[in-house]
Amino acid sequence: MLNVGWMTAAAGLWRSDEEEPGRPVRLPVPAYLVETGTERILIDTGLHPGAVADAAAHYDQPGALALFGLEQEASLADQLDLDTVTRVVLTHLHFDHAGGLSLLPDSVPVVVQRAEWEAGQEAAAIERNFFLPRDYASAAERLVLVDGDHDLLGDGSIELLLTPGHTPGHQSVRVGDLVLGADVAYFAATLDDLRFPAFGDDRAEQGRSAERLRGMRSAGLAIRPGHDPELLRPGAVSLD
Ligand SMILES: [Zn+2]
Repeated sequence: MLNVGWMTAAAGLWRSDEEEPGRPVRLPVPAYLVETGTERILIDTGLHPGAVADAAAHYDQPGALALFGLEQEASLADQLDLDTVTRVVLTHLHFDHAGGLSLLPDSVPVVVQRAEWEAGQEAAAIERNFFLPRDYASAAERLVLVDGDHDLLGDGSIELLLTPGHTPGHQSVRVGDLVLGADVAYFAATLDDLRFPAFGDDRAEQGRSAERLRGMRSAGLAIRPGHDPELLRPGAVSLD
């Protein structure tokens, strides 16, 4: 796991039913590198350093990301030789997942759910989901669109799981016995308490995605949350 930024916003934005909804809460932004014998697969890309420096200028949009304080100790490019990445998987198109995409060479394929990509092209869905098209514009020419669950390498080792709700085509990623749940659940407890963020595309659907991940947990898989400051530390991720 790489740390590719931090976001600070009001507790009530990140999670419903907070006792002090205005209290600032700082969340880590993770990305994951999965190395196989022949591939280096990057899952999510974190914040773009330009957005951290000046979001309004980076997105050419006054007030862009004004609700968030953004920080970054080291960008994706500082931590990884991006020329060695063989493909990128985006769990969804939010700025803290797709923002660093334009740092990668434009030859690297980008794997996204079709429903997510299509939502990112529609004005109403862009607005409802706070998508910032600059984050993913560079993917248009090298897209690999998938529909639903997908065996990424064809050998069962890495499986993309359609888990919509947070965004229209959100996906989680199973790597062996570990599931990167991404933003189905920001915090580890979210899977059970269903205290979702104040925003989101479809809460009922997000609830069903959480139920799906709980089922996988019951079957013995480990589920990692999307932004839990207590759990997400950079470094090797245990697969047991
Ligand atoms: Zn996120």
